[in-house]
This record gives sequence, C-alpha cells and structure tokens, in this order.
Amino acid sequence: MSELAPYASHAPTSRGRRYPEPAPVGRSEYQRDRDRIVHCAAFRRLEYKTQVFVNHEGDMFRTRLTHSIEVAQIGRTMARTLGLNEDLVEAIALAHDLGHTPFGHAGQDILNDCMKHYGGFEHNLQSLRVVDELEHRYAEFDGLNLTFETRAGILKHCSLKTARSLGALGQRFIDKHAPSLEAQLTNIADEIAYNNHDVDDGLRAALLTLEQLRDVPLFNTQYELVQERYPKLSQRRTIHEIIRRMINQQVTDLVQTTQATLAQHAIQTSAQVQTQERDMIGFSTEMAAHHLKLKQFLRENLYRHYHVQRMTFKARHIVKSLFDVFMNDSHLLPPEAQHSAALLAQDQGDSGRARAVADYIAGMTDRYAITEYDRIYNPGYVT
Ligand code: MG
Repeated sequence: MSELAPYASHAPTSRGRRYPEPAPVGRSEYQRDRDRIVHCAAFRRLEYKTQVFVNHEGDMFRTRLTHSIEVAQIGRTMARTLGLNEDLVEAIALAHDLGHTPFGHAGQDILNDCMKHYGGFEHNLQSLRVVDELEHRYAEFDGLNLTFETRAGILKHCSLKTARSLGALGQRFIDKHAPSLEAQLTNIADEIAYNNHDVDDGLRAALLTLEQLRDVPLFNTQYELVQERYPKLSQRRTIHEIIRRMINQQVTDLVQTTQATLAQHAIQTSAQVQTQERDMIGFSTEMAAHHLKLKQFLRENLYRHYHVQRMTFKARHIVKSLFDVFMNDSHLLPPEAQHSAALLAQDQGDSGRARAVADYIAGMTDRYAITEYDRIYNPGYVT
C-alpha cells in the first residue's frame, strides 16, 4: 500500500474490535478484516445471489460476488490515488452485500414487507448482523469480530431508532456526522460499479439497446468518441470500450473533485472528517447530474423491464411463501435455524422467531431458495 494521507484511516489508531485480540503479525488490522470476510460462508454464497439477473439466466452476468469484487477494485484504485486506506476500502467493499437476500432488491423488499411487524429487514443492517453475529467460525466469539472502522463502513445508513440500539457504532447517525473517507469512497465505488455493469449486462441480455442509451449523455459522449476512433470495432468491443471509458471518467472526476473539496475545507485528519455534516467525497455538480441521469435511465428501462419484473414477481412469491410457512410452523425449519428460532423466541417472542426466519431466508442463494420452495410446496418433490 502506498503512503497514507493524514486524513486516511490508520490501522494502528483503530477503535478496535468488540472482543480484544492480539495485533496481527505481518498484516494490518484491516487486512485481517478483509481475510476474515473472504473466508466466511456468507461471502462464498454471494456467487449464487442475483445482482439484477437471476443466476441461472446466464453465466456472463454479474452476481453479487463479481459485483463486490468490482466495487473493491474501483474503490482501491480511487483510495490509492487519494492516499486513503486501501485495505479498509477493500474490507468494506467485500463485506457490503453479505446481508443481501436472494433475488436482489426484489428479495430485500418483500422480506422487509414480511418483517413489517417484527422490526423490518434492511440488507445493510443484515450485512452487519452477518459479520457481528451470524457467522459461527471462531472459538472465542460469534461473528467475525471485525474492527470498528470496517463495521462502521458496512453500516451505510440506519434509522435513529436502530442507531440508538447500536452504541458507539450508531452515534454518528445521532450526531448527523459523516463516516470515514474510506466508507464514503466505498459507497460511491458501489454506485459506479453497479450503474456501469448494469448497462453492460442490460445490453448483453438485449433488454437495453445502444440507440436507447444514446439518450444518456455519459454514455453518448463516449459512444461518439469510440465510433469516431474505431469505426470498424465489433459491437461487443465497442460496448466494453465505452463502459471502461465511462468508469474512467467518473473515477477521474471523483478523485479531482474530492481533492479540491478536502483542500477547500482544510481537512487534516480522519477525526476531522468525521465531525463534518457533509460528505467530502463526491462528484462535481456536472458529473453528479450525469450520474443521476444514468441511474434514472436504468430504473426506467432496465429495472422496470417486463423481463426483470417477472423475476421480481417470482422472487416475491418465493420469499413470502417461505416466510409465511416458517412463521406458521417453525418445525419445518432445518435444525440449526429451528434452534435459532427457539432461542430468539425465548428472548423476544414472535419478533425473535421472525428474525431467525429472516436470517435463514436472507442467507439463501437464489437456487437454494427455489429448491427450498419446491421441497416445501411441491408434493412431487423428492429429496
Ligand atoms: Mg452493492
């Protein structure tokens, strides 16, 4: 890792882990966080969780795993240029979607509906729950016992009510303070990654067309440049060339704008960043407008495409059916989930039982959820 700027998060001054541990040898605290994340079960399951396209629709589409790796890659590049802590960015990026349900946002939304009377469901908070509670790997503690900074980076947003229950980790939401620069950066790397790779996947799936995308200025500028320079390029290569240039343009804008903002506010330390009410990392006004346009385009033309809507419909049906059946009779849960349901119900009644059911469903991959649905509802299904 290159030299850190004074406003970066520095591993030796970490606010530590919930269960104190001896300092790692040969790697930093944040590298250890990253390593624990890569080795956990929830990380491996990201391979079979939908980003936009359901897993079995094709081998070329992004999954939550490849998405998370792209976020880490874009995040690290920007972190290095800005002198921020790459290891912390990488740890946050690789963990940011660990709590995601099967079937992308459709899964998260319906699970949240199911959990309406039991404290709700939010994938961001669930990612924190995975690394704090749900991974059972280490002898000395539940969860991965990550550093405060990685956990704070995972918790992008939360309600005031939740913030009050989270102790030191929730304090910044009560104070309305910004998170570390590394957390801010990873958040934007996430957006850059999915907005651009969803264009690529949408074109590949033929749900979007090049003609349509020419209405998006960010795309069209690069489209014209590429057409002029490489008029004979195949369509696949043209698309890739446009998208890599779009990412590059957004990354360059973000780095330059952020450097100017940090200088303008005379930011010297990470502590100073975290008493600000506004984020220091962001696009220029012009790029922010372009970026918003791209997001709106994707919402209207890709996420609302009838093909994606059909997937959403099925996902809602599967998740809701599973939730209802397990809430109705927790004896249908496999032993480990049944055990958690009993434990949590002892403590918090129905809300506890619902939480265990939500944990079980959220942990499923797309194909596991489909199979589990079949096992329960299809009388002809033989295990
Ligand atoms: Mg993401």
